[in-house]
Amino acid sequence: MKEIWDRMRIISFFLFLIISNVAFAEKGIVFNDVSRLNPTVVYKIVKVHRIQDIQNALQEARIKGVKVSIAGKRHSQGGQQSCVNCIVLDMFEFNDIISLDTQNKIIEVQPGATWEQIQDYVNPYGYAIKVMQASNVFTVGGSLGSDIHGNDPSYGTIIETVKSFHLMKADGSVIKVSREENSELFNIVIGGYGLLGVITDIDLELTDNVIYVMKSEVMDYTAFPNYFNTRILGNKNVGLFSAKLSNAPDSLLKQVVSSPYIKVNDKRNKSLFKLHKESWLVFNKFFFGLSRKSGWGKNLRWCLEKFFVAKVGRTEYICRNNAMRPMIKFLDYYSPKNTDILQEYFIPIDKFVEFVDGLRKIIKDKGVNLLSITIRYVPHDTRSFLPYAKSNVFSLVLYINQGLNAEQVKQAQMWTREMVDLALSAGGTYYLPYQLYPTKEQLLNAYPNFNEFIEKKRTYDPGSVFMNRFYMQYSN
Ligand SMILES: Cc1cc2nc3c(=O)[nH]c(=O)nc-3n(C[C@H](O)[C@H](O)[C@H](O)COP(=O)(O)OP(=O)(O)OC[C@H]3O[C@@H](n4cnc5c(N)ncnc54)[C@H](O)[C@@H]3O)c2cc1C
Repeated sequence: MKEIWDRMRIISFFLFLIISNVAFAEKGIVFNDVSRLNPTVVYKIVKVHRIQDIQNALQEARIKGVKVSIAGKRHSQGGQQSCVNCIVLDMFEFNDIISLDTQNKIIEVQPGATWEQIQDYVNPYGYAIKVMQASNVFTVGGSLGSDIHGNDPSYGTIIETVKSFHLMKADGSVIKVSREENSELFNIVIGGYGLLGVITDIDLELTDNVIYVMKSEVMDYTAFPNYFNTRILGNKNVGLFSAKLSNAPDSLLKQVVSSPYIKVNDKRNKSLFKLHKESWLVFNKFFFGLSRKSGWGKNLRWCLEKFFVAKVGRTEYICRNNAMRPMIKFLDYYSPKNTDILQEYFIPIDKFVEFVDGLRKIIKDKGVNLLSITIRYVPHDTRSFLPYAKSNVFSLVLYINQGLNAEQVKQAQMWTREMVDLALSAGGTYYLPYQLYPTKEQLLNAYPNFNEFIEKKRTYDPGSVFMNRFYMQYSN
């Protein structure tokens, strides 16, 4: 009797395994990005630790006939890192710092390395990163994938600071890519959203970790372009620059707080080189949360930001590495009802006021819940295959809260399209790593050689092994 009972238990255990596996396969593995708006059922997620893991995944994709997508920190927000039934290569743990050439100030890293890791590593040597996003949480591979830009007005996009990288093609072979070798690929893979192959390591240029003095000023938005042209543009002493437009209902898009970081030749105060850790998390989260929910919360936060973050009326001495690691963790947000998204528009300097006036109207008319809007400068990009800075432009980065239900998503799509039209009519563009709300026509207006990009992708990846939802939406 006991023997029969034991057998039944073993059989039922195996039955359970079979049934749960079938259920799992049917349910699939859901991949999503930080916006939580793009859940995608994928075939498999492979955590990459070695080159061999990528080769094995590519071989499996060939055998199973599935596509391959590549993910860094998943901060792009429009399905740029996945597509249905694909193998996702999760590069985040493939993140060694391989070497530092102190003579030539070049660092070699694996693509999953984050800017924070690099800052921690190079700070003791007195070095800093040339171009990275406004914060340091992103991976280097993902940053190349989107050809990112940052706060240093003397550089354009990251492409300017990449010496070379290695690229694994769909057949598993690895080639070196630089301005000299396979040079066409250099301009397409950077800003190529993982559609040409897998970047397996990168050589990046560094600069010196100098000290800046930061003194913010408040001004009317109409005065900002002239202020920028006369005081910031071409001023070799400006090491970093960013500005904020007011999102407070009382001064919506009318007030600008400008924060230039001016180089000072002062290395005496050693404590300035100690790297900051994120602080004031609860305080920042609380006031950001208030501003998410109410107009008075936005007014209050704008006041606090001017005096505590931008430190208007005071001067601050800070090293480059610390200025390039502002607080960001307080933005983490997980409501089941709504989420925060990012958008970015690149506007010629002389069209700034016109664009801001149009944007204010859309925000008011459509009740867009704008949480912040920052301004940076990106010089004309003559190198990338899909350039977003088609002249010297201001980049306006909008942080927006949007609802998650179908109707709210539809509305967000509608007002995004209005914003994109506004940017296009000002001779500007929009940034591609965000939601896939713009139409194909808008994409082609912003990126007229996108069809040529598709042709190049088909030439370098004839089997279309590398795939993502962004490409699927806009290549047909
Ligand atoms: C809060 C926030 C702030 C931001 N600030 C800025 C900013 O200041 N400036 C700016 O330019 N952008 C900014 N962005 C956009 C951001 O830089 C991009 O979304 C960037 O790609 C995110 O990096 P990631 O590591 O999350 O990459 P992911 O989003 O995971 O990947 C981005 C793309 O790169 C590809 N990719 C990743 N790794 C590889 C690899 N090894 N080989 C080939 N392709 C690869 C992916 O397939 C994908 O298409 C911001 C985004 C957020 C959410």
